[in-house]
Amino acid sequence: MMKGLIFDIKRFAVHDGPGIRTTVFLKGCSLRCFWCQNPEGINYKQEIMFYPERCIACGHCVSVCPQNAHLIKSGVHIYLRDRCLECGKCVETCHAGALQIAGKWMTVDEVMKVVLMDKKFYEVSNGGVTLSGGDPVVQHDFSYALLRRCKSEGLHTGIETAANCQWEIIEKLLEFTDLIMMDIKHMDPEVHRRVTGVTNRLILKNAERLAETGKPLIIRVPIIPTVNDTAEQIEAIAKFVQSFKNLVYLELLPFHRLGEGKYKALGLDYPASHLTSPSKEKMQKLAESAKKFVPNTRVG
Ligand code: SF4
Ligand code: SF4
Repeated sequence: MMKGLIFDIKRFAVHDGPGIRTTVFLKGCSLRCFWCQNPEGINYKQEIMFYPERCIACGHCVSVCPQNAHLIKSGVHIYLRDRCLECGKCVETCHAGALQIAGKWMTVDEVMKVVLMDKKFYEVSNGGVTLSGGDPVVQHDFSYALLRRCKSEGLHTGIETAANCQWEIIEKLLEFTDLIMMDIKHMDPEVHRRVTGVTNRLILKNAERLAETGKPLIIRVPIIPTVNDTAEQIEAIAKFVQSFKNLVYLELLPFHRLGEGKYKALGLDYPASHLTSPSKEKMQKLAESAKKFVPNTRVG
């Protein structure tokens, strides 16, 4: 039976589309944005997250690990990530929450069991289900099956995507998708490559194709200091999308550092440590610039 690799299911989400929603986060993304707030969603594989500040040095993980990847010396826990095979045995024994596994293989039925718990809330709020990530296009077969089941239950469906994939994949998902939320981060292909690891050519082409489908489309721009936080750059994006007839609105989202602790838990340096969140005033100013071309611009 087909399974998807899910790293979170967030109930009562209110920022991932209209109404009250359940957001399903799928592992895997083709971009490497250095400011990513969900680093545990990037790789399409299970990963161990270690929070040493929660460790009570009980030694349970040391006993069960077949790779001797956990050591406790003088009360200090050392996790040797290089030895780890991500089997998850240590996570099961850690009751302190110091060890967690990012990514759980789930069937569509298992995900739907969670999703359907809140069906009455979707109905009263015009909410539904959103697939996010990572990027749901990476596990497109599973996403397709999940979206189809959601529609068979009469639920409103949305996807959050960077759209950096073959058009045929997006086209397939659109069959059971009511709303697309898509990121555009920069209009310059070389800057885009420098800050995300990939050029924006395919992304912009797919945005134009999405505009032709007539499906409701929300364009989101993460505002990243030193990358795209000038009026010139935001206006360039607003100009690009201004003719999209299916554009519901353009949304500017301020950078924040909420993902920092997760980088450390994954054994990674935090690449955005030199950045601070843009102020409310700055966000409003950028929104005013965008409104010259897209009156329905909002700050998220
Ligand atoms: S996931 Fe498995 S191999 Fe990795 S540290 Fe835990 S028990 Fe050891
Ligand atoms: S099982 Fe958890 S709390 Fe116990 S030593 Fe391992 S990481 Fe620390």
